[in-house]
Amino acid sequence: MLKPKQGKLPADAHDSSVSVQEAWLAARDSDEDVTFDDDALNPHFSYLDERSLRHDVWFLDAVTALNHMRAAQTLGIQTSPYGGWVRRSFVMASVGYSRRRWRGRQTAERCLPARMLTWKAKARSCASRDRPTPGVRDLTIDPNTKLITDENFQNLPEPFRVGRYGYSPNQVVLTFDDGPDPEWTPKILDVLKREHAPATFFLIGIQTDKFSGLAKRIYNEGHTIGNHTFTHPDVSNISSTYMKVELNLTERLFASLMGIRAKLLRPPYAIDEEPDTADQVKPLEFAQDMGYITVGNRIDPNDWSDKPRRHTAEEISSYVLAHLPPCGANDLRCGNIVLLHDGGGNRAETVRALPMIIDGIRARGYSVVPVFQLFGKTRADVMAPLSTGERWGARLDGLGFWLFEAGIVSITWIFFPGRSAHDRAFSFYRDGRHLRPAA
Ligand SMILES: [Zn+2]
Repeated sequence: MLKPKQGKLPADAHDSSVSVQEAWLAARDSDEDVTFDDDALNPHFSYLDERSLRHDVWFLDAVTALNHMRAAQTLGIQTSPYGGWVRRSFVMASVGYSRRRWRGRQTAERCLPARMLTWKAKARSCASRDRPTPGVRDLTIDPNTKLITDENFQNLPEPFRVGRYGYSPNQVVLTFDDGPDPEWTPKILDVLKREHAPATFFLIGIQTDKFSGLAKRIYNEGHTIGNHTFTHPDVSNISSTYMKVELNLTERLFASLMGIRAKLLRPPYAIDEEPDTADQVKPLEFAQDMGYITVGNRIDPNDWSDKPRRHTAEEISSYVLAHLPPCGANDLRCGNIVLLHDGGGNRAETVRALPMIIDGIRARGYSVVPVFQLFGKTRADVMAPLSTGERWGARLDGLGFWLFEAGIVSITWIFFPGRSAHDRAFSFYRDGRHLRPAA
């Protein structure tokens, strides 16, 4: 319930419903204690927001659910006719019910964070995560009625918090996914060179192995290189071991070709950069543990899509220019990082749109900058040169990748004459793109 400190409520302020997780978070973020009303047996708290509006929050949790069931049972009301035992058990488990331990009047129980996650900041570029932690609450139980008569939080549970950072009012980053591609990547590099515009390329390992000369050209012309996995799987559906192999293979390939350790990552498929649940954030958490920085892509003009028809260069560029900062409160596609593609299909319109995008960005007073500049790092921070010892290992890896490539070519030549090796090896990736939006 919202109340102004004085005067009337602003027109845009209104009461709203929140989940128990959101209530806990609001109490935690406002540093207010959750108290338990003696009469209503209901937890609540109040806080003032930045506009001096007072929020009175009353919420239901497992404690109130258990009290409701107990009260109903004393009146002879069956609380859960279907699956009643399961539901009761679930509620009891949520408050840590134990017949032996609850004989006493006091018990301290854990309360777990919800499986939803929350966004920590409004900047719209790169993501970092805080891990969830359980809370602890002391419960007081009436030995006669078995009702919980007091709930006192020692500390509140903390869900996953995903933070975005890198917001800038006047800098824009151009990124290209799914290359290198022998037809489109050189054309894009030519435009970038002519326009003196830096960019970031998230390369697929299997393409980089095939077109290693292009990967080296990207690096030598001053652009930034990042990891887009080796075979472009949907990372929300693969095991952590599989993901580790995907990332390590690509990282070692970059090391063998360019003598660098690439620390930027863009996981394939947009859902994995904008996760909503704990399951979706797991791959990103895993990548962060491996030392990667995940780079988002708020401005996505869908240059890859050919359904119902391919977007024209004019449509691609006008979409990008319409979503530059400053971002409106409801413009979820506004940001500092533009997602384009230099591989995975016909990119003629992307190549044609690129000069229009760069000119439009600059005409509006923005600078086109390398991605590491957005979050205050250097080129060496995100593409660290290998030490002398590491270079020897990278050379051996390079031999392995050469044998891998030679093996694919040989198998294809024997079993699939007339068809390119990578047409076969890469076809599952291209086919998969028709099923889901790409990134
Ligand atoms: Zn991709």
